[in-house]
Amino acid sequence: MELNERQEKILKIVKQHGPITGSKIAEQLSLTRATLRPDLAILTMSGYLDARPRVGYFYTGKESEEVMTSKVRNILVSEVQSVPILIKQDTSIYEAIVKMFLEDVGTLYAIDEDQSLVGVISRKDLLRGTMGSNDIEKVPVSVIMTRKPNITICYPNDLLIYAANQLIEKQIDSLPVVEEHDGVDKVIGRVTKTTITRAFVNLME
Ligand code: ADP
Repeated sequence: MELNERQEKILKIVKQHGPITGSKIAEQLSLTRATLRPDLAILTMSGYLDARPRVGYFYTGKESEEVMTSKVRNILVSEVQSVPILIKQDTSIYEAIVKMFLEDVGTLYAIDEDQSLVGVISRKDLLRGTMGSNDIEKVPVSVIMTRKPNITICYPNDLLIYAANQLIEKQIDSLPVVEEHDGVDKVIGRVTKTTITRAFVNLME
């Protein structure tokens, strides 16, 4: 619901001075109590304000939908990204599994000698690797990883909502955050379903 200018002003007064009576709000706006009555009724009914007899109006903490929506829409990947866990592409499947447990992540990113992103290794990739080979201490992750150009990436300045859409569309759990330097795709972060859930919870709190 969109609030009109006067309702926004009332909300501001109650936020600053609540609990506050209707007459006091009217006084601050140089209006009569009767003029304000419909606005106060709307703000109370839609949950922005609550009223207690003999105490007055107070703010419930509900933000306007518009404010919330624009906050969500404007979060950048760089504001919420977490640390990427990188391994060399010649790392064995066995070592990669150990790394995944030690770092407590669901996805590892493989890099080449130039530190450039070359692959993504998920839990299922590693499971598949262990099923298909009986020498996981020797077989490198490059055999089982999803490799370039099939990797979905994002950039620090992308909107988080874009990254979230990619996770849903591609049915994957994480996106590497990449910064290009002289033709090298350096992995500087990671966006996961957890990252997005955390950003969502922080916003609500
Ligand atoms: P899990 O294997 O634990 O279900 P995912 O759903 O993330 O995890 O991975 C499913 C498949 O998608 C795996 O083969 C993995 O290599 C691949 N994958 C994961 N992340 C990406 C990505 N960002 N770009 C391309 N492929 C990916």
